Amino acid sequence: MDKEYIATPSKTIEIINKYNFAFQKKFGQNFLIDTHVLDKIIAAANITKEDTILEIGPGIGSMTQYLCEKAGQVISIEIDKMLIPILEDNLKDYDNFTLINADFLKLDINKLIEEHNCKNLKVVANLPYYITTPIIMSLFENNIPLDSITVMVQKEVALRMQASPSTKDYGALSLAIQYYSTTEIVANVPPNCFMPRPNVGSAVIKLSLRPDSPYEVKDSKFMFKLVRAAFNQRRKTLVNSLVNSPNLDITKDDVLNALENMNLSPTIRGEALSLEQFCELSNLL
Ligand code: SAM
Repeated sequence: MDKEYIATPSKTIEIINKYNFAFQKKFGQNFLIDTHVLDKIIAAANITKEDTILEIGPGIGSMTQYLCEKAGQVISIEIDKMLIPILEDNLKDYDNFTLINADFLKLDINKLIEEHNCKNLKVVANLPYYITTPIIMSLFENNIPLDSITVMVQKEVALRMQASPSTKDYGALSLAIQYYSTTEIVANVPPNCFMPRPNVGSAVIKLSLRPDSPYEVKDSKFMFKLVRAAFNQRRKTLVNSLVNSPNLDITKDDVLNALENMNLSPTIRGEALSLEQFCELSNLL
């Protein structure tokens, strides 16, 4: 890009001062000020002019500028109305950019996709960390027709997404992410790549959506109810967690029979079960 980058410390300070912008901690505002990190994100997302990019939280447009250069269409959703005139000004040269002032979690994304005739949809974003899980789960659960999600998240969350059974990071999030996608950590990003600096490390993770579930599941909603119940009381045995869950109506004998069928111990904890085993348990129950 021959343009002046927004994602540098000096340009970011210039923009902040020009508009007298005050960072809002409640919106998770940590803007990227490192073009090398942006290059890595853009390369991993594999963006072409055929693609529509959905960006959640454009900030002052540091990543948006890169996305507009590479993609056919960019739709960015920003909650903070103070950022809207700044974004409109910073990105005025791009006619493939659409800005929506809204809370992403309250938007009907399927309707938006239809209205904007989105093709080859990819999510690329530096997410607001306080709502990382709800954003990703809403993309999965609303069956948004996505190719991939390449996002900056808290390092610890990226590790939880990739975790294997019986590790401390393994939980309901790991199982959901691995059910819907395959994962790849693209970069580790230290706090000094942001303004202001967050007090946690960050990582860029790419989630490539699976065309089909990796294992056969008769009722995936029920399977995820089992998963949530198992990890709600993670130190208890799986049998006790499931039988005591107010969201499930299953007996101790049901669970014990299913575990026997699967050659698993009656005292096993939920955290020891793999995604495949949760799928099998769900089908049996
Ligand atoms: N993309 C910019 C960058 O990389 O510099 C900003 C990233 S900053 C970590 C997160 C952005 O998400 C902020 O601009 C914040 O205002 C916005 N945001 C927070 N909550 C949001 C929500 N519910 N819906 C849409 N945007 C939100």
